[in-house]
Amino acid sequence: MISNRYGCLHKIGRRTGHRCHLCGERLHVELYGRPGMFGEDTVTVDHLTPQAFGGDDEPENLMLAHAGCNSSRGVLPVEEARVLFGGDGDAPWSTGARSVALGVGAGVGAGLLFAEREGDQIKFNTKAALGWGFGVSLLSWALSAEG
Ligand SMILES: [Zn+2]
Repeated sequence: MISNRYGCLHKIGRRTGHRCHLCGERLHVELYGRPGMFGEDTVTVDHLTPQAFGGDDEPENLMLAHAGCNSSRGVLPVEEARVLFGGDGDAPWSTGARSVALGVGAGVGAGLLFAEREGDQIKFNTKAALGWGFGVSLLSWALSAEG
């Protein structure tokens, strides 16, 4: 889906794992259009810094949001709107960030699980940690590959 004004919408959507950056629910880039065009599933491009406050069309200032979330937000600061609609002040994680976090989590877990005791010292198993972290990252990336 390419917008004349914003360019590739998949690229913008990928930054939040194709979720509305305000409520965190999944959205479908194909339903991009004028507010109301596809009912409440209509997807719009939201400006992190509202245009009314000088926000421009630079990629860093753009995120996808449901038309309804977008218009309810108005010119509220993003963090405030996200807490109101999604209960969390952070944007949804991109697929990449989620994979990395899962991998690091699995790695630390595996490293501790396979840790060896040497005298009264516990030796963190770096090899297991790296292996599991890398594997789980890849797996999670592959499972959630999209757009
Ligand atoms: Zn939304």
